[in-house]
Formats: sequence, structure tokens, C-alpha cells
Amino acid sequence: MVAERIDGKAFAAGLRAQVAEEVARLKAEHGLVPGLAVVLVGEDPASQVYVRSKEKMTVEVGMNSYAHRLPADVSQGELISLVRTLNADRAVNGILVQFPLPKGLDQQEVIETISAAKDVDGFHPQNVGRLVAGIPALVPCTPLGCMMLLKDRLGDLSGLNAVVIGRSTIVGKPMAQLLTNASATVTVAHSRTRDLPAVVRNADIVVAAVGRPEMVKGDWIKPGATVIDVGINRIDAPEKGEGKTRLVGDVAYDEAAEVAGAITPVPGGVGPMTIACLLANTVTATCQANGLPVPDVLTV
Ligand code: NAP
Repeated sequence: MVAERIDGKAFAAGLRAQVAEEVARLKAEHGLVPGLAVVLVGEDPASQVYVRSKEKMTVEVGMNSYAHRLPADVSQGELISLVRTLNADRAVNGILVQFPLPKGLDQQEVIETISAAKDVDGFHPQNVGRLVAGIPALVPCTPLGCMMLLKDRLGDLSGLNAVVIGRSTIVGKPMAQLLTNASATVTVAHSRTRDLPAVVRNADIVVAAVGRPEMVKGDWIKPGATVIDVGINRIDAPEKGEGKTRLVGDVAYDEAAEVAGAITPVPGGVGPMTIACLLANTVTATCQANGLPVPDVLTV
């Protein structure tokens, strides 16, 4: 079997187009323009790239983008005070503080200060709790994007065996919760899991969120399974020339694609879904703040 390649880049472009339609509708029918505030602390080059592309895509779908750049030596008090100002600002519907923060700043206090209603990253304990309780919540963007890709391919997930490899609070745990809420039978694997290949061989759905290049091998995959590769790992690529690198996922793509029914590539799979879901969450937050129904296409 040669797996279908799940084109996350194309799916994300479609989702952004739907977000743009909803933004236009909110403006025409309610005079509302959703606003996303992005806070970047320090000069980390990778974070600067992420933040620039978030800002660009926010404007492209017709929303307002508010950028706040703070020096790496900003105090915890100043950062918290900015978050409180954004909480109170009616033009701001979503707040994203780019992590990781520079050393010395308390990430958890920032997460808990952001108003749960504007928490478009879905990290606030209130949103985490709502997700667990199965009531509407702002859901972390990467697992939300994975879930959209899974539902698009498989439709009803009920009764399917799903294995999530990784238990981080930003990917693995919320992913497992979304799959549980969709009535899949879920196993969460991690670094202490015994005989991981055997666990994965039982899975109709595999979500790999580990951060280890090409760890999941082709002979771990159940024939026909759907494989979602969240990992983004940079490895040496001497075949491209000296000092060159390339991106790979947590799954050995070529091997796994021989066995799976469908698989996301890296790059071009889950990655583009994350920002598209951030934009979707900002529209969701805007609708909720104004007592309007949340369009089905923006949630799972
Ligand atoms: P993380 O916080 O480092 O968590 C990694 C998880 O993998 C942990 O639960 C860890 O287990 C588990 N693990 C480590 N080694 C393992 C092994 N040998 N066997 C089984 N499990 C193992 O990472 P993360 O933030 O979830 O990110 C995971 C990957 O996704 C990274 O490559 C990251 O770059 C990527 N990512 C991509 C996006 C995107 O937009 N596409 C977004 C976020 C993250 P323990 O808990 O036991 O330590």
C-alpha cells in the first residue's frame, strides 16, 4: 500500500480562506473586526520568524494585528501589566505570548493572567479544564489542527484505536483529550512506555509528538493506519552540500508511507495548520465574547 499524502498546507490555506469569510461576515453583519495581540519578549530568531508570520497571516484574513515587542530584560511585573492591559482592551479578542520566554520570566503566571476568554493558545487552566470536561473551550492550536485533518480524512473516529506518542501540555495531552472526546480508544505513550512498537502496531490512528527525528519506523505501523506527524526536527543533510540541513518529522516517512493508509509529510503537514488554527481560535473568541454562535468550520 502506498499511503495518501495528507496535504496540510492546502488544508490550512482552505481554513484561512474560511476564516477570512467569517471575518468579513462579522464586519458586515455586526461591525466587528477581530483583533489578535502577539507579545514577543527578547530576540530569539526562531520566535521572531513565527511572530512575523502570525502577524502577516492575521492581516491577510482581514483581522487587526497588534504587535508588542519587549526587551529580554523586561521584568515579570511589566510583562504581567501588559497582559492585563490587553485583557481590558475591547479591540483585542485574542492574546498570544510567544513561548519560550527568556530565562527568569515565569511562563505559568503569564498563562494564568491571560483572560481565559482571550486565551487563543488554549493553555489557561480554565480552557484545559473545559476541554477535559468536554464543554466548548479554546483548544491548543496544534492538536486542533491535527484533529481537523483526522476528521477530514476519517469522519467518525468513534471506536478507533488511537495512540498519541508524547504527553506535553501543548500537544500530546490535549490531543489525547480531543480524541477521547471524539470517542476514540486512546493510549498515551511517552518515554517510559514499554515496547512502544507493539503499542503503535495496534493503532488505527498514530499521532507522533516526540521531537526525535524519524523515531517511528515503518514496521511499527498497522497497515492502513492514519499517521499524523507533529515532530519538527532539523537534521544534517550532507547530500545537499556541506553544512546543509533539512527538516524531518518523528516518523520515518518513506517507510511508513509504504504501510499507512494516509500520512502527513514534514514539512507541509501539521505545521501550516497551527497558525491557521490560531486565526480560527481568534474568530471563535470574538464570537463567544459577543454572544454569537461559533461557525462549525472553526472547531472540531
Ligand atoms: P516535548 O514537550 O519535548 O514532549 C515530548 C514528549 O515525547 C514527552 O512526553 C516525552 O516523554 C516523549 N518522548 C521523548 N522521548 C521518547 C521516546 N523515546 N519514546 C516515547 N516518547 C518519548 O515536545 P512537544 O512540545 O510536545 O513537541 C513535540 C514535537 O512536536 C517537537 O518536534 C516539536 O518541534 C513539534 N511541534 C510541532 C508543532 C507544529 O506546529 N507542527 C507544534 C508544537 C510542537 P516524557 O513525558 O516521558 O518525557
